Amino acid sequence: MSATLSRQQPQHSAVYGPVNSWRFGRSLGIDPICSVSTCSFNCVYCQLGKIQVTTTQRQIFVPTMQIFDDLRAKLPLEQIDVVTLSGSGEPTLALNLEKIIGVVKKVTRLPTVVLTNSTMLHDPTVRSALKLADIVAAKLDAISSNQLQQINRPVETINLPDILAGIEQFRQEYQGHLAIQTMVLSRWTPDMVKDYIEIIQRLQPNEIQINVPSRPRVLVRQLEARGNNIAQSTPYLVQNLKCVSGDILAAVATQIHDAINIPVTYPAVA
Ligand code: SF4
Repeated sequence: MSATLSRQQPQHSAVYGPVNSWRFGRSLGIDPICSVSTCSFNCVYCQLGKIQVTTTQRQIFVPTMQIFDDLRAKLPLEQIDVVTLSGSGEPTLALNLEKIIGVVKKVTRLPTVVLTNSTMLHDPTVRSALKLADIVAAKLDAISSNQLQQINRPVETINLPDILAGIEQFRQEYQGHLAIQTMVLSRWTPDMVKDYIEIIQRLQPNEIQINVPSRPRVLVRQLEARGNNIAQSTPYLVQNLKCVSGDILAAVATQIHDAINIPVTYPAVA
C-alpha cells in the first residue's frame, strides 16, 4: 500500500450523474469507493489523478445501506439507460460488491454495468459477484509486462499473466455481456495489433471498446472527477494528455474487427 489515509464516513452521495457515456448512453454512476481514491492500478491517464491508496486489499468503503439510501434519494429515475459501478477507484475492491449490485438492480430495475481493471478477477468471490451484472467492461491496456508497468503502474503483486488468466476464467463462467476496454495511448505497430488479436481470441469477449484518454486528468484529487464533467470544473489544475487521432483509432478498430469478427466500438475523436 502506498499510503494509509484515514477513512471517514463519506460526506458525499455514492450516486452521481447521470453522465453521458459513449459506450452505454445516459449512465447513473455508483461509487463504491468515494472518499479516498483507491485502486490496484495508478494509470498514467487516470482522470482521478494520482491514486491516493494503491492496494489489492478488499474492504467495505461505503456501507451498502448508504448506497441504498443515496439511490432512493435519486428516484424517480428518468432518461437513464444504465447504472454503472465505477467512481473513485476499482469497484471490485469493495467487499460488499455483490450486495451493492443486488441493491442497484432491485431499486433501479435498469441494466447494471461494472467497469473493472481486471486485476481482481482471479478471486472467485469477485467473479461470483460480477455474474450479477448485465455488462462487465474489463480493462486490458497492456499486451506486454513492460506496457503494464508503463501504462497501468500496478501494485507490486500484479502481473499480466494473472490478469489474462483471471479474465479468461471469468469469461468461462460469465453468461452476460463481456466487453474488453482498451486505452490506445500511441500508434500501434503491426506486431502489437497481432499480439492484441491473439489475446482477444483467447479471451472471447462479446465486444471490444477502444478509446483514447480524451478527458483532462486532474492533478489534485477532486471527487467530481469520477464523472465526465471535469472539463467544465475550473479552476482545477488539469493535464491534457496527447491522444492518437480518430483516424488511427478507426484503423486499429478495423484491423481487429477484420481479423476476428468481434464488434469493436470506439468514440468519435476530433
Ligand atoms: S484502473 Fe481506472 S481508477 Fe484505477 S488508476 Fe486506472 S483509470 Fe484510474
